[in-house]
Amino acid sequence: MTRRYSIAAIPGDGIGKEVVPACLAVLQAAAARAGGFALEVTEYPWGSDFYRSTGRMMPDDGLATLRAHDAILFGAVGDPGLPDDLTLWGLRLAIAQGFDQYANVRPVRLFPGVASPLAGVDAAALDWVIVRENSEGEYAGHGGRAHRGLPEEVATETAIFTRRGVERIMRFAFRLAASRPRKHLIIVTKSNAQRHGMVLWDEIAAEVARDFPEVRTERVLVDAMAARMVLKPRSIDTVVATNLHADILSDLAAALAGGLGLAPTANLNPECRAPSMFEPIHGSAFDIAGKGIANPIGTFWSGAMMLDHLGEGAAAALITEAIARVTAAGLLTPDLGGTATTHAVTEAVIAAIEGRN
Ligand code: ATP
Ligand code: MG
Repeated sequence: MTRRYSIAAIPGDGIGKEVVPACLAVLQAAAARAGGFALEVTEYPWGSDFYRSTGRMMPDDGLATLRAHDAILFGAVGDPGLPDDLTLWGLRLAIAQGFDQYANVRPVRLFPGVASPLAGVDAAALDWVIVRENSEGEYAGHGGRAHRGLPEEVATETAIFTRRGVERIMRFAFRLAASRPRKHLIIVTKSNAQRHGMVLWDEIAAEVARDFPEVRTERVLVDAMAARMVLKPRSIDTVVATNLHADILSDLAAALAGGLGLAPTANLNPECRAPSMFEPIHGSAFDIAGKGIANPIGTFWSGAMMLDHLGEGAAAALITEAIARVTAAGLLTPDLGGTATTHAVTEAVIAAIEGRN
């Protein structure tokens, strides 16, 4: 019997409108080639244009609508004419928080034919997964401002770490590290300077480690971790860090692996109590929107992660292998130093999935 998955596609703003349709074509090609399952896609035109016509980034019952789907493929959100606070919180963060997608997974690898700014690194040196806590921490939104505009003005930004929140991301990271060949987890903190939340983070890491004796762990301070990514990339496999720390480290990692256009991310509700969301890490990139030159690979790879999450690992591997074949052949968009269009890369990836090149 054919397995059926219901997918919500939200292209969003800017280049999201280009890379998401391209990804849907790639996903359908992979489903057809792998066989055994079908993707039923519903597209939702939510985002900044929707806001301009309705006053909302998504309808009031948007979350209820999305909940009926098995997974969400997201493009990008952000508009030069609207505040980030509105666009981000009105759509992307509303979904991530509404569905408690507490585990943000960011794989990093260097595809063949893609240049890293680090001299001498190859695919074996850059094969990491960064796990970002996605529901609390420094981005919990707690704080405020007093005495606005006066000399004594104070602004506070309080990071919130809960035992439940830290323990669940730690368990997720240990399970992920245990599933990878090297079984090595780096726990990033800053417990020498941040003496409350980061110490809780360290204590919980030590507790959870007892349940995973097969996983080798290291504790590394976030500043040292940034240096290590550049100086000793081979010593890294799986990394877990807070919302803020992993946000910064994963942008560094994406840059080391060839740039924002290639990097994918999964916002997971690991217990599958609500749909998970898959998206490229880049934003709406209005400087290149509408030109047909956006790099679609980060979205393709996100689509592959979505198939993996749905249990269709063989189809997911068809996509990542096809990406590698296309980058190895030198078919690259301008952000990677090439001249290929979004359309040309998409057609080449589909051809590779279908075994035509
Ligand atoms: P946000 O505010 O959501 O971060 P942004 O408009 O600042 O969005 P980013 O996605 O952060 O854009 O990207 C910064 C720059 O990197 C873009 O302006 C663009 O030039 C380049 N870039 C990002 N993604 C891609 C891509 N997929 N293909 C080509 N270039 C990209
Ligand atoms: Mg940006």
